[in-house]
Amino acid sequence: MLFLSDYFRNRLRIEYASAGLDIPAFTRRYSLCNLKDCQGLCCHEGCEPYEEETKVIKEQIIKQRVFFNSVGIDLSEPPFYVNEDNEERTRKVPYTYTVPIPSHFSHTACVFRDAKNRCSLQMLSLAEDKPSWWYKPLACWLHPIVLENHGEKIITIPDIENDDCAEPGYPGFSAFTPCGAEAPEGEPGYVILAHELAMLSELLDRDLLAEIKAAL
Ligand code: SF4
Ligand code: SF4
Repeated sequence: MLFLSDYFRNRLRIEYASAGLDIPAFTRRYSLCNLKDCQGLCCHEGCEPYEEETKVIKEQIIKQRVFFNSVGIDLSEPPFYVNEDNEERTRKVPYTYTVPIPSHFSHTACVFRDAKNRCSLQMLSLAEDKPSWWYKPLACWLHPIVLENHGEKIITIPDIENDDCAEPGYPGFSAFTPCGAEAPEGEPGYVILAHELAMLSELLDRDLLAEIKAAL
């Protein structure tokens, strides 16, 4: 369950009702999230929540100031900024990773990440006895799954060859994080990411797992 309104859910449902499902991406093998070894690399660039998510997060920042202070989140400056593409993103703060990271990734972290690399929006959800992804942006809890919407809509786990966010000098994102990189010793994506697929299925009113299994 998520806070998302019926309006937002309907919009997502309509947009992705017939979106392609990248079966080969979900049958490739991956490894489970290991926050301790990874140090939260998926959060290094911050994130760009949907407008409605940003609005709710901003409300929580005001309402739950004491909580965010208590988990060490620095809200002395606005936690969102508008980038050159006019997108509202979470602010990044310097962070030195002590594990090897791809050379095109920066030593930064989302302002909402705590000192143990945990998402404080997820922590807030739990502190309020809500499901853990209640306040966590969709793109964050889906990682490494991506809802591609440039041209043809497709639900995928981008690999090095087909990452929509790749550009000259920036070869991509998901496949360069530990859970989005192919892991021959791991499990198929539809197994590793069963929880994410179930939540996404509920949001889109589809049974993505059944669709994948039917295609095997
Ligand atoms: S990049 Fe993947 S493995 Fe690392 S913390 Fe994020 S979800 Fe977990
Ligand atoms: S909102 Fe949470 S999960 Fe998303 S980038 Fe920031 S700290 Fe990471």
